[in-house]
Amino acid sequence: MSWPGKKPWLHCTVLAVALLPVAGVAVADELRPAPVPEEPAKLLKQADGLESSDPSAFSALMRRLDDSKLKFSQQQELHRRYLDAREVAFRGDFKAAIPLMQTIVNQSVDPVLSIRAGATEVDLLLTQSRYGEAFGLLSALLEKLPQITETAVRIQILGAASQLYFEAGQYDLAVSYAELLIKESDSPKAACIGWFDKLGPLLQTGQLQAVGEQVNDGKAACGRAGNVLIADMFKTVVAKFDMQRGSPAEAISLLQNSYAEVQRKHFPPLVSDVDELLAQAYWKTGDTKSAMSYALRVIETNKGFGGVYLATTAGAYQVLYQAEKKQGDLDAALAYLEKYMAADKGYLTDVSTKALAYQTVNQQVLAKKLQIDTLNKQNQILTLQQKLNKKAVEASRLYIVLLLMVLATIALWTYRIKRSQLRFMKLARRDGLTGIFNRQHFVNEAELLLQYCRKSSRDASLVLIDLDHFKAVNDTHGHAVGDRVLQRAVEACKTYLRSTDIFGRLGGEEFGILLAECTLEQVLVRAEQIRLAIATTAAGEDAPGIPISASFGVSSVAHSGYELRQLLIDADEALYRAKREGRNRVSVVGDPACA
Ligand code: GH3
Ligand code: MG
Ligand code: MG
Repeated sequence: MSWPGKKPWLHCTVLAVALLPVAGVAVADELRPAPVPEEPAKLLKQADGLESSDPSAFSALMRRLDDSKLKFSQQQELHRRYLDAREVAFRGDFKAAIPLMQTIVNQSVDPVLSIRAGATEVDLLLTQSRYGEAFGLLSALLEKLPQITETAVRIQILGAASQLYFEAGQYDLAVSYAELLIKESDSPKAACIGWFDKLGPLLQTGQLQAVGEQVNDGKAACGRAGNVLIADMFKTVVAKFDMQRGSPAEAISLLQNSYAEVQRKHFPPLVSDVDELLAQAYWKTGDTKSAMSYALRVIETNKGFGGVYLATTAGAYQVLYQAEKKQGDLDAALAYLEKYMAADKGYLTDVSTKALAYQTVNQQVLAKKLQIDTLNKQNQILTLQQKLNKKAVEASRLYIVLLLMVLATIALWTYRIKRSQLRFMKLARRDGLTGIFNRQHFVNEAELLLQYCRKSSRDASLVLIDLDHFKAVNDTHGHAVGDRVLQRAVEACKTYLRSTDIFGRLGGEEFGILLAECTLEQVLVRAEQIRLAIATTAAGEDAPGIPISASFGVSSVAHSGYELRQLLIDADEALYRAKREGRNRVSVVGDPACA
């Protein structure tokens, strides 16, 4: 280890900067003499402002707030306690400040105050080497960062991040967060802290070729932000750079120029940092006495801070050890060497503990993210499945409805087809002009009835009717009149028929009637009635001048048997005889009287 080139001299300074107030920009001189407003909200705001600019005025105001009989709301009370805790931290009692901040983090309903307290708690945890907790809290805060719009709070989180990653030796990350601070919405406060936080890791890793421009930018930002403390700290950056490039004399002159001013600040980290740098620089220039004097000051300043400022303590002991050795006081040299070794080991252990904590928390965060990602994916799959199930249910409902519609359509069509089939069947059985059975259907039905009569040995008779001289009707009055005459003749017949009688048009102006369960006598009576009916009603006014009549031929099963064919032949024979005998009469087959 080449000393002080690799010594992380910025350690104390950066840690302290993180604990610097960041909330307000008020200028102390303006605020100090002003009468303190009595409203709690205004007082708290004023305290926020003073904290950043004037620690002693801030402390005075806090005392006033503590003693005051002012009525605070619950949230205002938490704000006051937050400022109290900041004050405790600023006084250097970091350990006591941690639980105070934790309470604010847990209890504040205002997310901004909760996050401000969280960011401070990260810094405080660092001072107590509670790195695991610090990294855990920080990563939780960084997750909330995109939702935070308040510049002051963003600065606090980003500052804590650049700080903590620097502490853990994650220099690239530290620089990234510092750069975010510099870019933070034109805030001079953010740029002030950002530049300081950026230069720390860059110096640490020897990446700086020059510091002038960047330090000037940083100092200018701190000037605009009214943060004189960090403005002073930039001097230590330049001094460190001078030391790195082998110009201890320049470092001394720079630090001595503002030495009295730094002492007045009473900010231990800065004081011991400057003293330690001076001790190193004087040692380099060969001024052993001055080197020892500043080194002893470092030890004195750091005494109250335990292991917090291990780096400057180690540096001071190293100078003292080397100085005593040079002066020949080997006992004293050995004593300082032991102390130096202990402090340096403590410091190195501290750094590796932080690095380990960072890695552990990083792994935990990654594992948690992975777990959350997995859960999210599972949720997405579940949601998708639910959607699919819903869609499937909807689809099957749709299928059922469609199926029902198809079934209803099929049923409707089946019904319609059946109905038209029936209509066609009916039409096919009927005579188009008169509506009675056509020849084919008459034959079918007559045969069925004859079978039935044959089986039950019932009587049945067939009557054939043929209109007389019908051709003359057509010839005289035309076919239309002839059709109407045919229809009237049918109506006349129906008047004397039973529903069980089978009546059909056998062709042209010829009709047949099959009557079952009637004696021949009864059939003849019926035929006679029909003949009279036709003769009186069939013509009507449609065919004036032409007498309408019909001739009848009757056959019966008693004479001809149950075969329709035979009955037809016999009835036709009787009909022929009726025509021959002068028409408009009824003739029975086998009737000797008619033969
Ligand atoms: P007969 O007394 O000897 O039976 O003489 P007829 O004129 O009735 O007999 P014929 O067989 O010579 O003539 C039957 C006529 O019936 C011939 C045809 O013009 C007519 N006719 C047949 N079917 C129809 C029809 O559907 N409508 C009309 N208007 N006339 C028909
Ligand atoms: Mg005829
Ligand atoms: Mg005829």
